[in-house]
Amino acid sequence: NESATKQQPTVEPPQAATKGGLGTVYGRQLVKSFGHRTVLQDVDLDIKSGEICCLIGPSGSGKSTLLRCINGLEKVDSGILRVNGEDLGYEETETQYRPLSKKQVAAQRTQIGMVFQHFNLFPNMTALHNVMSGLVLVKRVKKQAAAEHARSLLQQVGLDGHENHYPSAMSGGQQQRVAIARALAMDPSVMLFDEPTSALDPELVGEVLGVMQQLAEKGMTMLVATHEMGFAREVADSLMFMCAGRTVEYGDAREVLAHPKEERTQQFLEKVL
Ligand code: ADP
Ligand code: MG
Repeated sequence: NESATKQQPTVEPPQAATKGGLGTVYGRQLVKSFGHRTVLQDVDLDIKSGEICCLIGPSGSGKSTLLRCINGLEKVDSGILRVNGEDLGYEETETQYRPLSKKQVAAQRTQIGMVFQHFNLFPNMTALHNVMSGLVLVKRVKKQAAAEHARSLLQQVGLDGHENHYPSAMSGGQQQRVAIARALAMDPSVMLFDEPTSALDPELVGEVLGVMQQLAEKGMTMLVATHEMGFAREVADSLMFMCAGRTVEYGDAREVLAHPKEERTQQFLEKVL
């Protein structure tokens, strides 16, 4: 199709450029390579506080890498990346733009929660200890206060009575909800989800999406890489379709889903819907 190949991809971030504050994510011209392989190319993002943004795209399109960069697990090669209103890993003084110390980076990262496809719980710890460990070890909260807070978070994700269970004794859906509670324990202003339901049996997907929907309703800023189009349609404000490290289409979630402008988006949606 000749006209499709000549067309420029539609990349129009929904918001204007701002410095932003807590709960915002701002990216401009983000580039990330592994060796000679460019995995992210000129990705722009503009997420306001309380916004739910879904990242969709075929396997290998760069969704995980983008989330890992936003979480500070990977460093972008170039571009501007601000999370919670702060340049990730850098600070701007009146005279220079300089890297933060490890301690400062760690402090920034506690403000950004992440939930992984494979839960990544500590297998040798109970649900309660998984949730309270960051509070005790990173935030230096006293054990009793940490346990109390962890209990209320487990309750919030519907795991009342599972405090003393080890991950191996829980279903995937329960483990993922513990992982969400553990991320929430650090009191993040932005939550990143990397295909949080992809490893789950179909009957367990709903309980995790339900917890995520509750979190969205409470006003948490969320970036969610997912293949769950129902969630994207019902919960997402914005949606980005990525392909081979580039943004193909980015805008209002319902609009992109109902009227995708790009042929690649249309083809992808036809396959997953
Ligand atoms: P997605 O999450 O959309 O499936 P990824 O971000 O995982 O995509 O991967 C994008 C591309 O980056 C893939 O080609 C993948 O092989 C490559 N990649 C991801 N992480 C690394 C890494 N640590 N080293 C080398 N290549 C990587
Ligand atoms: Mg991935």
